[in-house]
Amino acid sequence: MARPDLMDRVVNLAKRRGLVFPSSEIYGGFRSTWDYGPLGVLLKRNVKEAWWRAMVQLRDDVVGLDSAILMAPRVWEASGHVATFTDPLVDCRNCQERFRADQLPASGACPNCGAKDSFTDARNFNLMFKTYVGPVEDAANVAYLRPETAQGIFVNFQNVQTTTRKKPPFGIAQIGKSFRNEITPGNFVFRTREFEQMEMEFFVPPEDGPEWFEYWCRERFRWYTELGIPEDQLRLRPHDPDELSHYSTGTADVEFDYPWGWGELEGIANRTDYDLTKHAEFSGQDLSFYDQENDRRYVPHVIEPAAGADRATLAFLLAAYHEEEAPTADGKVEKRTVLRLDPRLAPNKVAVLPLSKNEKLVPVSEEIATDLRSRFMIDVDLAGSIGRRYRRQDEVGTPFCVTVDFDTLDDRAVTVRDRDSMQQDRVSLDRLAAHLQERLPA
Ligand code: ATP
Repeated sequence: MARPDLMDRVVNLAKRRGLVFPSSEIYGGFRSTWDYGPLGVLLKRNVKEAWWRAMVQLRDDVVGLDSAILMAPRVWEASGHVATFTDPLVDCRNCQERFRADQLPASGACPNCGAKDSFTDARNFNLMFKTYVGPVEDAANVAYLRPETAQGIFVNFQNVQTTTRKKPPFGIAQIGKSFRNEITPGNFVFRTREFEQMEMEFFVPPEDGPEWFEYWCRERFRWYTELGIPEDQLRLRPHDPDELSHYSTGTADVEFDYPWGWGELEGIANRTDYDLTKHAEFSGQDLSFYDQENDRRYVPHVIEPAAGADRATLAFLLAAYHEEEAPTADGKVEKRTVLRLDPRLAPNKVAVLPLSKNEKLVPVSEEIATDLRSRFMIDVDLAGSIGRRYRRQDEVGTPFCVTVDFDTLDDRAVTVRDRDSMQQDRVSLDRLAAHLQERLPA
């Protein structure tokens, strides 16, 4: 499929099936934000849950945190965001559109109106959203919506370290909303002004930084492939020295081959001791760590894998989207759309489908649904032909359909249909939950 088509089809499917809606749509939309619908919220939660499981649950060297979005403004002075969290902004003198100077086409022509040499000089534009705390809107009460979750972790380094008694190397992970006043939001949920990050700060003895940086690059790349993104749609791209953030000695991006080209999914950075040193300086608190074993004191270096929940969700959707020919029950061939999502990410795990709305089939289906519901997210669909209902489940990635037919009333068994192979197995009702559980890994 031509790649612009792929994007259109995924955006269209997302809208049509309640994955992602344009924000404030009844007011004409808000362009820079999106809303996750009933199936989208499940998909995104599963993405975040898979991240949390890999980063926190399955490790004994990472703990979690949920810090506030609004923080003391001094945090952003210390971190360097007030002074340097900027993008270079240019205006087109001809059409007045604004662009990021570092994203202009090589031709020098305005991407909006085509005018040549029409840009103003670049000026730095700070991406942090400002607001006021309390009733008085003056300079003394300015606060910022956090542009990254990381600083909430750094300012809690001491709290977490002393309460958990973790020693470097150890990490603190957090999932939460961040806000950036992006000059050019776009490409669906790829770049928005409100988004969700999944970040982990890994604190290590200074000399071990480079080794842990390599480790986390490998681990994070593997996370995406294990959850089903083909390796040829991913790459790890080290930053050039002139691309590095103000705090970093080494950064590599995990990039995905989006329909418009390679783009960042996640950044892995060696932030050195920059943040803890700055916060120690600005707060007057000692944020060093005393290493009892070796009787030495040091400020830990930090390796940060910083991922976006929205970009990851989009990448999983794009990689999963397939259109293919499939045989119908009566021996014909028809086109089907299928989201080959890893079952762990699929919004619903099982759909319960009575063959018809027959008064005997519906109560049995309800009984089955009640039992399965306590174990998995499920859907029950009664409307339309069974073939059509399979297609509807395929296109939102439901791994299994359980069909209740007239034989069920006699043999107390159902048909379990696999989304990918479309193979159907007869499974007795008393084995059904266990059967599905075995085929749906945690
Ligand atoms: P970009 O270069 O694309 O602006 P960045 O390098 O500024 O991204 P980071 O600061 O490294 O991004 O943020 C970590 C992750 O947060 C990104 O890899 C991305 O997944 C996510 N992210 C950052 N900005 C946005 C945004 N505006 N919309 C959606 N996700 C974002």
